[in-house]
Formats: sequence, C-alpha cells, structure tokens
Amino acid sequence: MGRVYNFSAGPAVLPEEVLAEAAAEMLDYRGVGMSVMEMSHRSKPFAEIIETAEADLRELIGIPDNYKVLFLQGGASQQFAAVPMNLMRNRVADYIITGSWAKKAWKEGKIYGDARAIASSEDETFSYIPDCSDLPISEDADYVYICENNTIYGTKFHTLPNTKGKDLVADVSSCFLSEPVDITKYAVMYGGAQKNIGPAGVVIDIIREDLITDDVLEGTPTMLKWKTQADADSLYNTPPAYGIYICGKVFKWLKDQGGLEAIGKRNEEKAAILYDYLDQSKLFKGTVRKEDRSLMNVPFVTGSDELDAAFVAEAKEAGLVNLKGHRSVGGMRASIYNAMPKAGVEKLVEFMDGFEKAHA
Ligand code: PMP
Repeated sequence: MGRVYNFSAGPAVLPEEVLAEAAAEMLDYRGVGMSVMEMSHRSKPFAEIIETAEADLRELIGIPDNYKVLFLQGGASQQFAAVPMNLMRNRVADYIITGSWAKKAWKEGKIYGDARAIASSEDETFSYIPDCSDLPISEDADYVYICENNTIYGTKFHTLPNTKGKDLVADVSSCFLSEPVDITKYAVMYGGAQKNIGPAGVVIDIIREDLITDDVLEGTPTMLKWKTQADADSLYNTPPAYGIYICGKVFKWLKDQGGLEAIGKRNEEKAAILYDYLDQSKLFKGTVRKEDRSLMNVPFVTGSDELDAAFVAEAKEAGLVNLKGHRSVGGMRASIYNAMPKAGVEKLVEFMDGFEKAHA
C-alpha cells in the first residue's frame, strides 16, 4: 500500500525527507560508523547534533538570549507538575480551562498550590475560547496558564489572554512551530514533540532565564528542577538522544521550507481548504466556533454515529487514516500538522465530497 495520509493527532506524520535522511544515516551516521541511537550523548557528534538543533530552533522562532531552550523527557504531562514546582512561589496560579489537557494541567497544579480556574469553555464542550480580555487575574498569581491549541477540541487562542502583567505559561504541544510567534509574550512555552516536531519522548521547554532558579517547591525532584537541566544544557542525564536528532532534522526541514512565516501561510491554506468545504457541506459540520478554529486539528461530524463510522472505515480503505475523532467529541478529527502535504488535505476533501454525494 505504501505510505498513507496519516491524520493522527499524535504521534503524527513527519516530513518524508526527514525520514528518508534518517534511514540513510541509520547504520552509519556520517562516517562515525554507528547509528545516532548507539552513540554516547557525551560524544562530539552528538554534541554537534544537539547544539545545531538548538541553534536552528532559536533561529526559526527568533528566541532571544534571555530564554533557555531545554530538551527534556516525560512528555508534556510531566511539565504539568514541573510548571507549578518551578514557578509557584506564592502557591497561587490562574488556569484557563479550554479542554482536557488544560484541565489535567490545572488538576496537577492543585496538588502543589491554589490553582484557580479563572475561565472555562466546558459549558459548550470546549468548542470555543473564552473571552480573555479582562479576566479576574489573581493579584498574587505566580503565572497564568493556557493550552494554546486544544488538540482534542480543535480550538486555538488566536489572541493571547490579557494576563495583566502576570507571566504567561503555554502548552503549545499541538501548534509548536506552526506559525510565527513572539516568544517575548511568554514566560514559558513548552510542548511535546510528537505532533509537529519529531518522535514521542522529547518535550521542549523555552523558559525566560530569570524563572530558572533554585527557589522551587520543597520536594521538587532533581530531574524536574529546570535549573538542573539548564545548568547541564539538557545533558544532566542521558537525554532522548535519537528523538533530539530527528527534531533537529525537522528544524532544518522547516528552514528549507522558508521558516515559520512560510509554513504558517501554508498551514492557513491547508486549513482553509478543509474549513471552506465544511462550511458549505450539507453532510459534514465543523464543531468549533469559527473564530477559534485551530489550523492543526479539525474536528467534524455528520450527526450520525453510523455514518461517522462508515466514513472513517471507507476513508481508511482510500489511504486516509486515523480520522476517528477523540471519544469525548465523537465524529472525526483531521490533524493537519506541518508535515501533512496540501495534497493530503485536497485528497481528504475530495473523498468527503464523494462520500457526501453518495449519501445525499
Ligand atoms: N498537551 C496537549 C495539547 C496535547 O495534545 C497532549 C497529547 N496529546 C498533551 C499535552 C500530553 O502530552 P504527552 O503525551 O506528551 O504527555
């Protein structure tokens, strides 16, 4: 069958060029005589891999010198704990609840202090982003927390919340490097790699330097203390070395594509193909308020569980896979990350149109 169009929410499609290059280097990485998987994380070739990856990421986003980049493990979920452990000096934080991942982070925050839910869109199954222009931000909040792109529900903050001067912490797992971003608006930005950047096993944190201190909650494990990782340039212990190597290749690929400006434009075009079709379809409906739609995750339904199931099954036969929606929304979800080619989205829309005609 060959390669399919993979609409999985994560782990997700990676650029074919990256996979082919990694395959070519698998047995003998650039004359070293071994694969990257087999080499010491303290070796010269690996030092070059991680340093180049960080330099390329800094260049792509435009990360100023007063931000640290960390390549960590434990997934985004581990940062749900690391964030309060490293930042909750007053033991107060404000969370904006826009989906399951934000809610999980908030619940984790509550283990360590007074994590307050100051806004939520749960009343309408997280199908929109609440108005965050004038929220009751806590006077003594150590930070305001958002999940910027809600993978399950398909919403995105297109405007960042007004934090009234408080530090903003954002989980960007499912929109990392999908468009240009002004990192100086964030105190901490982090995300798991397995959607837009690389394989599972790597989580990337970008942290304003003044927040990396020894003043962490009592009992914070050495590994979860950002200072441990920052002081050791992400090499305190053995890092997810092979994953970092693939991330580095994806950063190079993004630079070759023209950087975040160009990839952002392409993502807008791709998403428009799908949303324009949904907006005129008599069978399929998008589930999200239009102005809050994600460019990365597009949930849609027919309104009939049977038709949804038939669609997912027939799409799979046609080489369009992993379109089943998350169980909490039902229906379908197409994740169209950076590496999903425009042709894949066009083929999906063509297939949806054919399905619609067949079921008119
Ligand atoms: N945040 C978001 C926005 C996610 O989509 C996910 C995973 N799908 C997570 C956090 C959890 O990531 P991990 O599995 O890496 O812990």
